[in-house]
Amino acid sequence: MTNKLLMGNAAAAHGALAAGVNLISGYPGTPSSELLQVASAYIREAYDSGQLAAEDCPHIEWSANEKVALEVAFGASMGGARALATMKQVGLNVAADCFLSVATLGVKGGLVLYVADDPGPISSQNEQDTRQFAQFAKVPLLDSSTPEDLYHLMPLAFELSERHGTAVIVRTSTRICHGSAEVPALERYVPHPISGFGRLPEYDWVVFPSRAYKSHMEMPAKIAGFLADPEYRALNYVVAVEQGVEQGDGVTVPFSSESDFAASSLGENGTVTPSLCSTESDFAASSLGENGTVTPSLCTTGTVTPSLCSTSVGFVASGISWAYLVDALEELGLTGQFDLLRIGGMWPFMDDIAAEFIETHPHIMVFEDLEPTIAQELQRVAGSRQLMVKVYGKLTGHSAVAGENTVVSTEREILAFLDDLGVAYPAEVLERVAASAPAIAGAPDNSDLLIGRSPVLCAGCPHRASYYAVKKAMRGKKPVYASDIGCYTLGNVPPLNTVDTCVCMGAGLSIPQGLYRADPETPQFGFVGDSTFFASSLNAVVNAVYNQTPVTLVVLDNDVTAMTGSQPHPGCGYRMSYDASPDDALNAVSCAEVFTALGVKHVREVDPFDLPAAIAAVEELAGLDEVNALVFKSPCINIFEPKSAPSVAYDSCTGCGVCIKSIGCPALTLDEKAGCISVNKVLCYGCDLCVQICPLNSLVSTHD
Ligand code: SF4
Ligand code: SF4
Repeated sequence: MTNKLLMGNAAAAHGALAAGVNLISGYPGTPSSELLQVASAYIREAYDSGQLAAEDCPHIEWSANEKVALEVAFGASMGGARALATMKQVGLNVAADCFLSVATLGVKGGLVLYVADDPGPISSQNEQDTRQFAQFAKVPLLDSSTPEDLYHLMPLAFELSERHGTAVIVRTSTRICHGSAEVPALERYVPHPISGFGRLPEYDWVVFPSRAYKSHMEMPAKIAGFLADPEYRALNYVVAVEQGVEQGDGVTVPFSSESDFAASSLGENGTVTPSLCSTESDFAASSLGENGTVTPSLCTTGTVTPSLCSTSVGFVASGISWAYLVDALEELGLTGQFDLLRIGGMWPFMDDIAAEFIETHPHIMVFEDLEPTIAQELQRVAGSRQLMVKVYGKLTGHSAVAGENTVVSTEREILAFLDDLGVAYPAEVLERVAASAPAIAGAPDNSDLLIGRSPVLCAGCPHRASYYAVKKAMRGKKPVYASDIGCYTLGNVPPLNTVDTCVCMGAGLSIPQGLYRADPETPQFGFVGDSTFFASSLNAVVNAVYNQTPVTLVVLDNDVTAMTGSQPHPGCGYRMSYDASPDDALNAVSCAEVFTALGVKHVREVDPFDLPAAIAAVEELAGLDEVNALVFKSPCINIFEPKSAPSVAYDSCTGCGVCIKSIGCPALTLDEKAGCISVNKVLCYGCDLCVQICPLNSLVSTHD
């Protein structure tokens, strides 16, 4: 097997295919999307080249949303197939109803959820932590730290899922998804044998209350079985202080007596407070003891138990934070100086391994993104076993409660934490740390090198024209614009200012219905993208029709799921299956027809770049006293070739800037020296929106 440089999502795709996955379903969501695309491209190529027969190809689909994706995958699992559902972290919220039932009913064929968290967040509406979702649903979670992990965890997840009859989550996060590493490239896909539908009495898929109760009762045994699985256990391991390095050399903490320790354990939250320990000089003296441990006779009270004196610091981490921790220790020259516990199997939590670590490390610093999930688990384990430990991290202010960890932030946190403890190092360690510290303190503030740019819709984006048409039609009025998750959320920045609310997928068409009830005099608009319309908005349309709510529901239909990388959706028809063809477009589901079918009587479809028609459509619909719908239909610039840029009539352009101030197209700039407009031909897509806006006709179209 040869190695190949693959991004994390691609490594996960290869891992899933190596496991013979029979079905992959998902909904696009950054940072998870590429898995499904890479798997689809691999299978398509194998099929087209004759290496793979049609009957051996796995089924791969973008589903209408994450809930449907999981339900399709669950159905395949019931049928004895290996199935994978992919989504980002907030997608699991959409799939939650099914997810909880999966946890109750169990699985037949291996069922794996690939869920990508987004610390930062970089492209999400929140920083939710899938590890806590796993705890909540009681579904095992394997946590990846690198792209290589993803390649290896996928087959293991399928094995564990089948062995224990439960779905398994493989969790990843943005930097792992989009980072690259060399992983073994899949040479040949071989489908896993499909065992057929699981029937009574062995399998019971009907989630009656009595079935749910029985399942709940069986859950502890199922979890115990998982915890005893050697392959799961192996994901959690200690990297011990390097051979030949005595613990007292670098990581002994300054407890001088048992009484000090007992007193300190009365600190806030029942945790140990180092400041209650004895003096530094005591510690300095004691740290010179044999084997690097504290010698009782050197302690202040003389009543000390040696094991409490010779305590040490331990670091615990999971996910990408594990990789950062390893790198940070190396950067600081502290590799091998501390015991490390890696949590690769996050839930169910390995209490015994954690307890063993706690017993020998009363000061534990946890490095984890998002929530203090591990920190809380360690506290639970310590509490239930009456172990004395202080768990540092997000719960103690030693680690940021929000945002993304980095190697540099980890270095800073290590230093601050050790400083707080007053840890005594041997001279050479102190020298290394001192040498690293200035660089850490100064990094990575390169903000002066960055040019400040607010996010903006692309030049030529049809959403700009749609929003402009609505604003133009609503001039003199003060409508409220509810919007949704997608590129079009960027309509909130000036000069468009057409996004007053953005809540979650689908809310763009529901929120205005509530706003109308609060303020019936104000025109209420709801915007969603076409992919979001099919994913999460149909119920909102039905609701408006049913409750007779006279709002204007707008679909910004650009023929693609643009924000996540131009994935197809039901509105364009193209599929990800090995046998996809251009004819798929014939099966595209029309947004306008869906509105009509759902009972909306007033439906218009218009090209937003036909500005007079677009404005007229908005004026007509917004004046109605019934629910109405408008589909602005024009493709995303990423799926067609640009047209030629408009030319500038320099003799008439006054440089008034009306074009820029009206639509904010980034291809338009004011040439202050020349006193007129300038069109950046690299950025311009030739949409001619500006041509229709200039009051002096100084921008001239150069194409039909
Ligand atoms: S034609 Fe005008 S509005 Fe359209 S992309 Fe070019 S500069 Fe921007
Ligand atoms: S192109 Fe028209 S709107 Fe733009 S600056 Fe010139 S005159 Fe003003």
